[in-house]
Amino acid sequence: MSRQTKIVVTVGPSSWNEEMLSAMLREGVEAFRFNFSHADYERFELVAKFLRGHETPLRPVTLVADLQGPVVRLGEFEEFPVKAGERVAFCLPEVKSGECVPVEEPVFQVASEEDLILIEAGRLAFRVLRNDGKTILAQALVDGVLKPRKTVAVKGKEFPLPSPTPKDLKDMKFAAERGFDVIALSFVRRGEDVSRTREVLEDMGFEEVRLVAKIETRSAVERLEEVLSAADAVLVARGDLAAYFELEQIYAVQEQILRRARAAGKPTIVATQLLESMIENPLPTRSEVVDVITAVRMGADALMLAGETAAGRYPLEAVRWLKRIIAEAERMPEEGEGLQPRPEDTYDVIAQGVVTLSEMLSGKVLAFSEKGNTARRLAKYKPKIPVYVYTNRAPTARYINLLRGVKPVYHPGLSKSDSALFENMLEHAINAGLVSSGDIVVFTAGRRAGATDLITVERVKPRPL
Ligand code: PGA
Ligand code: MN
Repeated sequence: MSRQTKIVVTVGPSSWNEEMLSAMLREGVEAFRFNFSHADYERFELVAKFLRGHETPLRPVTLVADLQGPVVRLGEFEEFPVKAGERVAFCLPEVKSGECVPVEEPVFQVASEEDLILIEAGRLAFRVLRNDGKTILAQALVDGVLKPRKTVAVKGKEFPLPSPTPKDLKDMKFAAERGFDVIALSFVRRGEDVSRTREVLEDMGFEEVRLVAKIETRSAVERLEEVLSAADAVLVARGDLAAYFELEQIYAVQEQILRRARAAGKPTIVATQLLESMIENPLPTRSEVVDVITAVRMGADALMLAGETAAGRYPLEAVRWLKRIIAEAERMPEEGEGLQPRPEDTYDVIAQGVVTLSEMLSGKVLAFSEKGNTARRLAKYKPKIPVYVYTNRAPTARYINLLRGVKPVYHPGLSKSDSALFENMLEHAINAGLVSSGDIVVFTAGRRAGATDLITVERVKPRPL
């Protein structure tokens, strides 16, 4: 069996040369993430074009634009060390006194006495002693170095910021116009953050761009159902997420997000620190190996490398190790039956039936999916047999590329209304070497938009030479 769990890598200085990108494509990386917090439009455009140029119908390449989102940052100043217990004053960016650390305005709106200010996702923490609306006096809780432009959070509080922000709108337009398939939204707080972004994209004429909600705030976890229903996928952004929860809660939060996303039939990506030590070392640590296996066994559709491939010394080794560990995890027997999510509706039952039937027959699935709904339903039941999902839409193929256990096949010549749809798929699958004579093939598709309501089973006959 080929790999079921998909791989997303972040491009950056360590990986955006053609040689490295080609090597990653050869390793079978499905998706490439561009971090728009450090947007370099000229570079991004070149890299996106290069990657898109290496796409084939059987190997789509998914381009992910990760927007900065409604985040608050420190302003510009000279970095300096702080010691636990030391007092530091934060002030509005326009106060250029040199005596205080500039930080954007929303912090002054929400921080109260005793609140914790977390910088760089908790690398530094301060307790608020006083906030007069213009200056915050706070006490450092740990030793560290305060650096300019780092992210700021107030533990347990939400900033009153719009989403998408003006920067997000600009980045979104750039990305959609350059053919990015997926837009990842940072610091999503509610379903509306996602649906509003979708409306903006639709108004720009980009209806087929898929939206990934990054789950990295407390309120996104609290409103997970509405975020799941608004988004096309969710990403467990453990870096910032862990700053909003206690660090030791991260396992339970991750497990809960993955379980509920799967029940809702939405794909998941687990990100951040999977192989963190490989930024510096050619081998992962023992605990990183266990973490990757845990994420696969919890049912993640895709795993995402960040610093490892963007800025690390061993980007290709990180991809290879990720593949090795995933392969090991996928060889393990499934944990208890209880993990199979309950079908939500008739179409779900049919999808589960297709997967079960194909597994019992040791067959292969050939599915057709126009918008990706049938593909999502099949992925929900984590098929252990080969599942090829044909689509006549390139954006759908690139979305299916993120789903666990299903392989997209882009075939623009297919049409759902064609009575010979399954015959055409079979002929293509035989020619492409996906199925051969003697194989049992289970076909599935939906007759109406959004449906999964057809099943046909056939043994592939020997072909005349
Ligand atoms: P980031 O998101 O890398 O954009 O911060 C991922 C995370 O917070 O884990
Ligand atoms: Mn983040």
